[in-house]
Amino acid sequence: MENFMFKNFISKILSHQKVAVFSHLRPDGDCLGSQVALSLWLQKNGIEVTAFNEDDVPGNMNWLETFFPISKPSKDKLQDFDAFIVVDGNALHRFGETAESLKNLGKPIFMVDHHPDPDDIFEEFVSVVSASSTCELIYQLYAEHNADQIDEHAAKAMYLGLVTDTGSFQFDSVKPATMHVAADLLKRGEFTPNEITERIYASRPLRQLKLLSMALDTIELHANGLFSTICITQEMFEATGCTNEDTEGFVQYPLSVEGVKACVLFREDGDRIKLSLRSQSDKIDVNKWARSFNGGGHQKAAGAWHEGPLKKAVKDVISAGREQL
Ligand code: 5GP
Ligand code: MN
Repeated sequence: MENFMFKNFISKILSHQKVAVFSHLRPDGDCLGSQVALSLWLQKNGIEVTAFNEDDVPGNMNWLETFFPISKPSKDKLQDFDAFIVVDGNALHRFGETAESLKNLGKPIFMVDHHPDPDDIFEEFVSVVSASSTCELIYQLYAEHNADQIDEHAAKAMYLGLVTDTGSFQFDSVKPATMHVAADLLKRGEFTPNEITERIYASRPLRQLKLLSMALDTIELHANGLFSTICITQEMFEATGCTNEDTEGFVQYPLSVEGVKACVLFREDGDRIKLSLRSQSDKIDVNKWARSFNGGGHQKAAGAWHEGPLKKAVKDVISAGREQL
């Protein structure tokens, strides 16, 4: 990673007085951790900050909102700000309808992210595809400006993003630098790893495990065992009382089957099917695979949509995946 990648970003953003920070739809630990840590940084450096997300913060991460409040944006509020920052997403549509309307305001929009192919609408952006998480980049921002500004809240918020976006430090996006960042956050924030992981992983409601058990039953192998699929239907949601956010992490199970190189999770959502794709092979690019269904993401983790029904979605998606082999 370059040493001073935030130089222009820092000098430009600190010239504004009122800034709004957006995290992406269906928020996860990385976008929320980045948003909170970045908002705290801006505040410490004399800027008036508001944090926005169009969706609800998942229950197991709502402790972040005691560090910095996250509210719902509305189009009429946007005029109040001089500049905007979006984190953990490469295009405005990832942040929802209100964020998409920012492009008509004529005010500068900044971005910090680790997804490939960033949109070209940003005033200044830091986009590093090799970074384990956007939180690792926000740590670099602090480190370049004044690492002593990392307080307990900022450290815990960034650690959350590191843990969740690396599957608890398992993915190959984890580099020695990632571990250095994690260690420094633990030291500066004076907390232990389990303090964060217990909050996010050991707080599963029973309904979620019931849903997982139904979903595991649907795992199937395709393409001589190189691909696996898992399905979550509306019926399962109704039987267990679960919602979409209860499916967080399920996609790792089909990927853990011996011999499987890539997997797809299919989730019925209204009259469409949400796809989550994962690869654990350098030869299978799920970002490319997801693009055949108007989606995107990273080489090893991506998402997209299919118009359904479920059976057709599985057939179409697996058939598109075979082209990767
Ligand atoms: P997940 O499967 O966890 O929802 O998403 C995995 C990755 O794919 C994330 O990095 C996310 O940004 C990206 N992603 C998920 N859904 C979509 C989508 O509908 N469109 C695009 N472009 N990217 C997505
Ligand atoms: Mn991320």
